Amino acid sequence: MEIIEKAPAKLNLTLDALYKREDGYHELEMVMTTVDLADHITLKNLPEDEIIIRTTSGVLPLDKRNHAFQAAKLMKETFQIKKGVEITIEKKIPIAAGLAGGSSDAAATLRGLNRLWELNLSLDELADLGAKVGSDVPFCVYGGTAFVTGRGDQIQHIGTMPQCWVVLVKPRVGVSTGTVFSALSFEELVHPNTNEMIAAIQNEDYQEMIQNVGNVLEHITIARHPDIERIKYKMLKFGADAALMSGSGPTVFALCEKYSRAQRVYNGLKGFCKEVYLVRTLK
Ligand code: ATP
Repeated sequence: MEIIEKAPAKLNLTLDALYKREDGYHELEMVMTTVDLADHITLKNLPEDEIIIRTTSGVLPLDKRNHAFQAAKLMKETFQIKKGVEITIEKKIPIAAGLAGGSSDAAATLRGLNRLWELNLSLDELADLGAKVGSDVPFCVYGGTAFVTGRGDQIQHIGTMPQCWVVLVKPRVGVSTGTVFSALSFEELVHPNTNEMIAAIQNEDYQEMIQNVGNVLEHITIARHPDIERIKYKMLKFGADAALMSGSGPTVFALCEKYSRAQRVYNGLKGFCKEVYLVRTLK
């Protein structure tokens, strides 16, 4: 038997940091949503007790550094599964991009192994397991649109985001999330209005939503990679309704209600960057 799971990318419509906790993590408030740019995870049982990772990406680690490997190992250990599994990752989400690609692969592996090994775990149980693999994994287990707090592991679903088109641009730089967070200073922060964003989504109010996007990490990553600012400027110039960096970056996304606008932004940015995607939000 073969199980296939989609692993969609996530975007931060808002990302706020409240304070640094004693355990070293930042206490976060984020509104996250998924888009239809997705990796595909295929899972197959193996007779030998081993985890084999195959991937279309030439650069991903195939051993215990791979987040999908970590998810499978955790499932095997927690439920004392003696079978092995082959995990094939068809990679479409840019790596180290602020789109939670690795976390989404781990989440899809948890959902898929739950089916393959008939464990009958709920999504809540899978999300609790996912928190042990990484902070973004619990959100990725559920997908959809959610208010996410804690270090990223507390999830409250807040309804369906107003549907729109999304243009994603991944500049040719990799960003380390840890380095960006360590440069965060609470004195200079301009906090996004998270409550207004949640209300906009609950009221399905697109105009309110685009006015309330915000990310406290954006200025830090822009200081290191000024191209992000230029990409945002171009997106707005080509007609995007809003433009923001996702996560710790470097990916920038534009929101467009009209497809014609999204196409204009896509075509305009294609001349400037190699990695440009035109996708939809997911329900
Ligand atoms: P986040 O938004 O959660 O911070 P990200 O989009 O910035 O994530 P990822 O694409 O998840 O970053 O990659 C971060 C690191 O994790 C990379 O160094 C990559 O080598 C490693 N990694 C391990 N497994 C995977 C995987 N299955 N897919 C992508 N990256 C992986």
